[in-house]
Amino acid sequence: MHYFDNAATTKPDEQALNTFNKVNQNYYFNTASIHSAGRDSEKLLEASRKQVLDIFGLPNHHCVFTSGATESNNIAIQSTLNRKKRFGSTILISQLEHPSVINVVDHYRSEGFNVKFIKTTEQGRVDVDHLRKLMDEDVIFVTVMAVNNIVGAVQPIQEIAEILKGFPKAHFHVDATQAVGKVEINYENVDTLSISGHKFHGVKGSGALITRELKTMPPIFFGGGHEYNLRSGTVNLPAVAAMAKALRLSHENTDNISGKIEEYNQSIRNALAEHRSIVIQPGDVPHILNLSYVGAKGEVAVNALSEKGIMVSTTSACASKLATLNETLTAMGQSVDVINGSIRISMSKDTEEKDVDMLIKGLKEVYEEIGDVLI
Ligand code: PMP
Repeated sequence: MHYFDNAATTKPDEQALNTFNKVNQNYYFNTASIHSAGRDSEKLLEASRKQVLDIFGLPNHHCVFTSGATESNNIAIQSTLNRKKRFGSTILISQLEHPSVINVVDHYRSEGFNVKFIKTTEQGRVDVDHLRKLMDEDVIFVTVMAVNNIVGAVQPIQEIAEILKGFPKAHFHVDATQAVGKVEINYENVDTLSISGHKFHGVKGSGALITRELKTMPPIFFGGGHEYNLRSGTVNLPAVAAMAKALRLSHENTDNISGKIEEYNQSIRNALAEHRSIVIQPGDVPHILNLSYVGAKGEVAVNALSEKGIMVSTTSACASKLATLNETLTAMGQSVDVINGSIRISMSKDTEEKDVDMLIKGLKEVYEEIGDVLI
C-alpha cells in the first residue's frame, strides 16, 4: 500500500506508541485521584502539558487536553462567544476553515451573530487587506486556520495578530491542526490554538486547546471539572503522553522531513507538467499537493488509484461525503471542472521515494484511463 492521505490521518509513531503502552500499563490511574498513584499520574500529565507549551514557545499560555481538534475548535468558539456576546456580535472567518469551525460559526449565525467571510487570494491565503477593512469595534471573534488542509497554504497568522492588537475586544482563534510538524509559526499573539495528535503521528482521540486566558473561558459542558473545568471527564493520559512525545519528535524533525518532502513534491509536479489536462494548485507546505484531472470526477481518480494500492483523497476526508463544491478551491477562484476533478495527495515522514515513484506511475496511468473525459 502507498499511503498519500496523511492530511486525513497519520500512522502513529513507534516511539509514541511505546509511550502510549507504557503509560497505559504503569499510569492507568485517574489523574484526579488524590492517592499517590493518582498524584504520580497527575505529575506526568503536568509534565506533558509543560512540554506542549514549551514546544510552542508559549510557556505562559495554558494547555487543555481534549479528544482532538474538532473538540478544541468547538470549545474555543463556543466558550468565547458565549461570554463575549455582550460586547459585540460580529465574527470574521476565513473561507478556508474546516467544518469543525465553519459549522460552529454557522450555528452562531443562526442565533443572530453577524458572520463575515474574509476573502481569499488565488494562492489560497487569507486576504489581509480585506480583513483590515472588515475590522471594527463590533468584531468579537476572528478565526483563521494556520495551514489549509486542502492546498497547504500557510496563512499570515502573525500579520493578522498584529492587526488585531488594535482591537482588544476581538478574540483570535487559530486552528493549527495541519501546521504541526510542517511549518514553525509564532503563535505568541494568538488567543486560542487547536491541535490534533493523530495529524502528527500521535494516537487518535488526543488533542489540545492552547489558550492565553482561562478565566475568560466558561465551560460549554459540565462535569467533574477536569482540565481547568473546560473539558470535564477522566483524562486520557496514555493518549496525552503519546501526543506530547509525537509533538516533540515532529518538532525536532520538521526541517529534515520538509526537505525530503519538498523533493517529492517537486518530482510529482515535474512528472505531470506536460499533461495539459492536469492542473496543480500552488501550495506552501510541500506535504499537501492538490491536483485536478480537469473534466473528470476526483472520486473516479481516487477509486482508480485505490485499486492500484495508492491511497489519496478527494478534497478532504471530512468533507468528501458532502455534496457541496470544495470551499477552499471555490474561494481561490477555481472553475467547477477543476474543483470537481481535484484530488489531494498528502505526505508525511513515512513517505518514501518508492511510494512517490508508484504514485507518479499511477497518476499517469489514470490520466490515460480516463483520458476521453478530460478537457
Ligand atoms: N481542522 C483541520 C484543519 C483538519 O484538517 C481536521 C482534520 N480533518 C480537523 C480540524 C479535525 O481534527 P480531529 O480529527 O482531531 O477532530
